[in-house]
Amino acid sequence: MLGVTSLSDPVSELAGVGPKRAQALRSLAIENVNDLLTYFPFRYEDLQAKDPTELTDQAKVTLKGTVAAAPVISRFGRRKTRLTFRLLLDEHTIIPVTFFNQPWLKDKLEVGKELAVYGRFDAKRQSLSGMKIIAGADGGGMGSIYPANKEVRQGTIQKLVESAFETYAPVIVDLIPEPLRDEYRLLHRREMIHDMHFPASDRAAQAARRTAKFEEFYLFEVRLQVVKQQDHTLHGQALTYDLPRLKDFIAALPYELTAAQKRVVNEICYDLKRPIHMNRLLQGDVGSGKTVVAAIAMYAAITAGAQAALMAPTEILAEQHANNLAKLFADFPVNVALLTGATKPAARKTLLPQIAKGTVNLIVGTHALIQPEVDYADLGLAVIDEQHRFGVNQRQALREKGQQPDVLAMTATPIPRTLAITAYGEMDVSVINELPAGRQPIKTSWIRSNQVDSTLREVKAELSSGSQAYVVTPLIEESEAVDMKNAEAIYERFKEQFEPTYRVGLLHGRMKNDEKNAVMDAFKNNEFQVLVATTVIEVGVDVPNATVMMIYDADHFGLAQLHQLRGRVGRGKKASACILIADPKNELAVERMTTMTSTNDGFVLSQKDLELRGPGDILGKKQSGVPDFKVGDPVADLNILSVAQQAAKETVASPNWADKDANLALAAFLSTTAHQNTTMD
Ligand code: ADP
Ligand code: MG
Repeated sequence: MLGVTSLSDPVSELAGVGPKRAQALRSLAIENVNDLLTYFPFRYEDLQAKDPTELTDQAKVTLKGTVAAAPVISRFGRRKTRLTFRLLLDEHTIIPVTFFNQPWLKDKLEVGKELAVYGRFDAKRQSLSGMKIIAGADGGGMGSIYPANKEVRQGTIQKLVESAFETYAPVIVDLIPEPLRDEYRLLHRREMIHDMHFPASDRAAQAARRTAKFEEFYLFEVRLQVVKQQDHTLHGQALTYDLPRLKDFIAALPYELTAAQKRVVNEICYDLKRPIHMNRLLQGDVGSGKTVVAAIAMYAAITAGAQAALMAPTEILAEQHANNLAKLFADFPVNVALLTGATKPAARKTLLPQIAKGTVNLIVGTHALIQPEVDYADLGLAVIDEQHRFGVNQRQALREKGQQPDVLAMTATPIPRTLAITAYGEMDVSVINELPAGRQPIKTSWIRSNQVDSTLREVKAELSSGSQAYVVTPLIEESEAVDMKNAEAIYERFKEQFEPTYRVGLLHGRMKNDEKNAVMDAFKNNEFQVLVATTVIEVGVDVPNATVMMIYDADHFGLAQLHQLRGRVGRGKKASACILIADPKNELAVERMTTMTSTNDGFVLSQKDLELRGPGDILGKKQSGVPDFKVGDPVADLNILSVAQQAAKETVASPNWADKDANLALAAFLSTTAHQNTTMD
């Protein structure tokens, strides 16, 4: 086997692969031998020899037997040929087999020879239209079908894989360390690759696929864990916070933290204190109390003498955070400042130097926080609220405002496990899996638009007990102007119905910021009992006295968004209701509505959302961050993915893991492939 070195050899080392074919293979992302050997079939044709009495008409089958009479070739048309011979299946069954336009097969068909023929069975004629002759008479196995394209045809891939396996089988070594292979009953890599391409049976193919998926996820996860480890060794600031002061602050909160909040606060504080860079994702369902956790973390940073920043996606949210934080910190030495696009030039002019000098130590804002003119004295902790609303660059920009500040990213709604493991795999994750005590459940109902009038009576009854209601107006994707018109029409209608007993307010995206804020404040102070709004109230808004959420055209919203909207109620001590108004036009929309009425659990919903829409739609097509796996499906194979992640964590966690005997092949493989990736770009 001269010349065979390793699976990282370029495919051009293989016989029959010249520069042109190598180029063509590149269109299938096949560059080296390993790429080719892990270019797996997506299905198999069953080549098991069959008994003709069990066959259905037009079935593709393999029949085995002996050649009973010499083939006869007849010509027809201009250049067409038909080759026919008789195949003796057993003592009393002979069937005619026909091949078109392959006269050369004649030489393979000596009388008395045993063979297996793959083809299409014709039940009426009891004959077989042959497609290929399978060497040997066992007829065993399954034909592999690969994803092919115009440049590289099916047959080419099959041949190349065969010859690559023949040549390189001796150098295929196990990548998954032996203890793991034993624990999860996985195949050796050589066997896995063999059985993926040339399985002897369905079962063999399935066993191989299970190992292939595990291997693919495991390699991906080990890489992620290595990146994470490198991130951790980055020199971050050690924020030596003042524990007694932090405890005083927590004791002064108007409520007791939930057990989950306490656990998460500990996880974060542990990271703050260490001289590493924290990159942590804080997950929790709507209303689980993420904001106060962020406040505690920011206060910790401040007691360590650093600054903290909180970036939110909208003006309303930034202002609400600034107000809440100012209240929370009223009796503590924290100077809260708000910086948004709406901040007046004069205010901005006084604020910027204060941020640069450090006299302001808690800065809340929107994208304005990452503008180049904004200089921080010493940014120790950057918190990003509703982090999915920001692009990677914006998150990075905030991070660059300090010297490796710790980063705490918060999500609006729970992220499905699949995405937490793949798209956010390089972050540490903290989960608040518990709502504050005393929360009343939200009852969700779905009505048709012709039932709205009777529902309004129930809403009035609810308001008469002193509660407030949100009314979210239809979402028309194309234009904000149309959204506004809809909102105004519904606003008029509600005024007619509810005033003068109750007052109705209107909020839409086209209003000026100070108008929006004025309306929000008035609603908060119960000057309005009904707030008609477009989705500007979607995230974060916190008015505990509101107990009704009506959503028009609910079928136009995604599950995550509906769950966010619903999360605006159920924040106080009173029971709440969410009313979805929808006349859905398709099955998927119906399923979204029934899912909403059947669960309040954001983790369940997010998983359902992922199944209904796929990862691309959830995180945005272009930057879903979910890698393209070859065999594994991170949604359907979540179990294997989680197990592989756990295994990878354990592998990388042990000190000097790359030098251990069991891991040598793995480490070598990762370093050669990593090298290739960097040189390819
Ligand atoms: P989210 O996780 O959706 O951002 P918030 O941080 O807005 O949730 O919290 C929702 C509401 O719950 C707020 O009014 C907040 O003051 C309150 N809250 C937070 N933690 C607790 C707690 N441990 N006990 C009672 N109420 C709490
Ligand atoms: Mg929030």
